[in-house]
Amino acid sequence: MQLEPVIGLEVHLQPKTKSKMFCPCPADIWKAESNSRVCPVCLGYPGTLPVPNIEAIRKCQLLGIALSCQLAGLSKFDRKNYFYPDLPKGYQISQYDEPLCVNGNITLASGKVIRIRRVHMEEDTGKSLHGDSDTLLDFNKSGMPLCEIVTEPDFSDPEEVYEFGKRVRDIARKYSISDCDMEKGQMRLEASISMRSVGQKELPNYRAEIKNINSFKFVVMALKSEIVRQTAELMNGSILKNETRGFDEKLGTFLMREKEGEKDYRYFPEPDIPPMSFSTDYLNEIKEEIRKKEEETNTKENKNETKQERPQKVYLMLEDQVLDIVKSVILENSSVAAQIKTGKTNAAMFLVGQVVKNAKGQADPKIIKKLIDSLIR
Ligand code: ADP
Ligand code: MG
Ligand code: ZN
Repeated sequence: MQLEPVIGLEVHLQPKTKSKMFCPCPADIWKAESNSRVCPVCLGYPGTLPVPNIEAIRKCQLLGIALSCQLAGLSKFDRKNYFYPDLPKGYQISQYDEPLCVNGNITLASGKVIRIRRVHMEEDTGKSLHGDSDTLLDFNKSGMPLCEIVTEPDFSDPEEVYEFGKRVRDIARKYSISDCDMEKGQMRLEASISMRSVGQKELPNYRAEIKNINSFKFVVMALKSEIVRQTAELMNGSILKNETRGFDEKLGTFLMREKEGEKDYRYFPEPDIPPMSFSTDYLNEIKEEIRKKEEETNTKENKNETKQERPQKVYLMLEDQVLDIVKSVILENSSVAAQIKTGKTNAAMFLVGQVVKNAKGQADPKIIKKLIDSLIR
């Protein structure tokens, strides 16, 4: 039985705004002192009232148009209820059945169309910092605006996810919607993946969701390692269930929790924010802004011959796997290793070459060099 992956993606983008989503707290939280960008609203005090940030909503709508979505004339916020220490209100204000934008798409270089189900607005949670014996909470991120893009499960190859992610980032930057600095958590990826027989039309009745991945390279690595794991499980006759997994550069994906029996979120309309209605004039203005910007960049691009960006190589081997190869190469080449010890650093490059060869080009030379340096001293 030949299996192929089915993959869907959720992307969280932090739109560039002056203040948070529902309160006047400044949104410049990067490197800010813990809990210095907070107020009773984003700390979830009872009795406070959220006031939606129109700048964030507008950016979400600009993103929707840039992703070829339709903008809703009527939209509303909903409460997504769950309990977690970094969510002081006990619910997150998000959007459930009436998102700001629906039915978009991105066409990949191959011509394949990836459908975008929705783009909606929500607020971010705080951050838990786990120490050895305690957990500290930083609420600077609590109540930051987030635009969430949800695709249909249209990807059949991790490389397509990579290309899609980069396209979303380029689009968000081009229209000044978000800086998408992944190191600063301004863009986060979550991929869902299942396996089905080639030719099968229906979706598998399970999926593994890989949470909070903060690099394009890692999303590819995580998905490839899931393909291997799920294929092996299915070939073994296992029945796979819905689950939430994390990703670690060294370990691959790991089980965080089984989704089966996960409490539901008891979504209901946010009673403290009236439903939103957008006039045709306002929505046309949004479309016009995107169209103008598009025109501007097109003329600019025609002027300065566009530089072709070379695609970055993605190395799939995990560090632990590379380490095994490095160790065996060192054992097989003990005389070279001895030369390195006496200070002949050039000899190290020979070993790097051997590892690259043994790893069939799937190991990152930078990581190989680092491992060799750490093993031979
Ligand atoms: P919900 O969160 O409302 O349950 P879905 O489960 O339909 O929504 O989809 C959540 C994400 O998972 C979407 O990105 C979707 O494309 C993806 N997805 C849904 N079913 C599968 C599947 N069988 N395999 C892989 N991805 C899936
Ligand atoms: Mg989700
Ligand atoms: Zn606040």
